[in-house]
Amino acid sequence: MTKAKLTKERDLRDSRPLWIDSPRISVRSKRNIAHSRYDTVIVGAGISGALVAQALVKPGKSVLIVDKREPVHGSSIASTAMIQHEIDVPLHKLQTMIGEERANRAWQRSAKAVLKLEDIVRSLDISCSMQRKPALYLSGDELGARGLKTEIEARKKAGIEARFVDKAELKELYGIDRTGAILSDISASANPGQLTAGLLRHVAKQGAEIVSGIEITDMKSFDTEVVLATTEGKLICADNVVFCTGYEFLETVANKKHEIISTWAIASKAGISRPDWLDKHILWEASDPYLYLRTDHDGRLIVGGEDEYNPSAYQSEKKLRSKAKTIRDKVSKLLGFDIGKIDYRWAAAFGSTTTGLPLIGPVLDMPNVYCVMGFGGNGITFSQIAAEIVAAGINGTKDPDAELFEFG
Ligand SMILES: Cc1cc2nc3c(=O)[nH]c(=O)nc-3n(C[C@H](O)[C@H](O)[C@H](O)COP(=O)(O)OP(=O)(O)OC[C@H]3O[C@@H](n4cnc5c(N)ncnc54)[C@H](O)[C@@H]3O)c2cc1C
Repeated sequence: MTKAKLTKERDLRDSRPLWIDSPRISVRSKRNIAHSRYDTVIVGAGISGALVAQALVKPGKSVLIVDKREPVHGSSIASTAMIQHEIDVPLHKLQTMIGEERANRAWQRSAKAVLKLEDIVRSLDISCSMQRKPALYLSGDELGARGLKTEIEARKKAGIEARFVDKAELKELYGIDRTGAILSDISASANPGQLTAGLLRHVAKQGAEIVSGIEITDMKSFDTEVVLATTEGKLICADNVVFCTGYEFLETVANKKHEIISTWAIASKAGISRPDWLDKHILWEASDPYLYLRTDHDGRLIVGGEDEYNPSAYQSEKKLRSKAKTIRDKVSKLLGFDIGKIDYRWAAAFGSTTTGLPLIGPVLDMPNVYCVMGFGGNGITFSQIAAEIVAAGINGTKDPDAELFEFG
């Protein structure tokens, strides 16, 4: 009998995402684990592991971050990194799924997480092109102008600022031909590779140990400690273990509410000719699948979308070519100008939940083991929420919103 893997094994992404060629994305890591006991072991050196480590490092506490790949080289390097408080499931729809009060809290928490993340980047002086940009949420086949107005009412009642942009204003200011849009603040964009690497370099300076090329293959959790086994057969003990393994989540938390789908993204050539407003906004649409787009500091247009509810479609080279072309044609039509040649195109696995909310918290029946998973279009924002919830749990307090995201 073959033993099930501890964490799901995936390729995560196909081809070359744009950020892989950025400077400042490498992080010094060791090839061997130095000790046999740590206060906390974090499995995964992507944006979730980096933010969880950032929330936990402090003098006198030992933290090990271990990854089977190079740090930063999982899904985080493939992200289009639109950092939004707007959750994939509109607030008024989420209210019907989980109740008004809980839905409002999830959205409010998401807005706070974006602000907190901005604060962390600023205070640690991480150079990752993080820039505040309002989001324009365009009407589409899921929500028309009337649906968007209902959504604005729900957001305003929850204390979340949003403004309706009508068809005429949308055409005049942005040259976009849709029946309406929601304009909202509290969003940003960044280089996800530099953001993750910057955080990891910071925690390493604070004493965290970063090890790469080692897979965690087995785990046993006891009342007072967790024992982990590595590919090399080494055993490590920890007071707490946090699985930040992204879409290669712990097999034991596989969940009906969460599925892995396929997504595609492209980047245009640098310095394309584009209207001024485009650099100051991020865009997405109320459609399924939806397009999402933004520019970067080199004047490239980065666009994602064409998601398919199939966990392996992203591995097809033929599909990558056709999806990239579809995305380019759709975005050129939407913006009203030809975005030119595609410089980068990539495909990746992507997590999706029915509520659009992530799953974060202690793993049932496994004392001292935490897991963060289920990150969709707001993965980076949710990684920040995960860091706050997990750090509170490990530090012996309970985050007031923990129950919104917990397993079970
Ligand atoms: C194309 C694309 C576009 C996206 N766009 C956005 C966006 O615009 N905005 C946004 O907020 N989010 C976006 N996301 C989502 C966001 O990028 C993810 O939520 C986030 O990167 C996940 O980070 P992570 O650290 O959880 O996972 P990862 O970055 O994948 O890191 C997990 C790490 O765990 C390691 N690992 C797994 N199993 C083991 C094991 N057993 N032992 C040791 N190591 C292990 C892996 O090697 C990996 O490096 C996008 C994602 C994709 C793919």
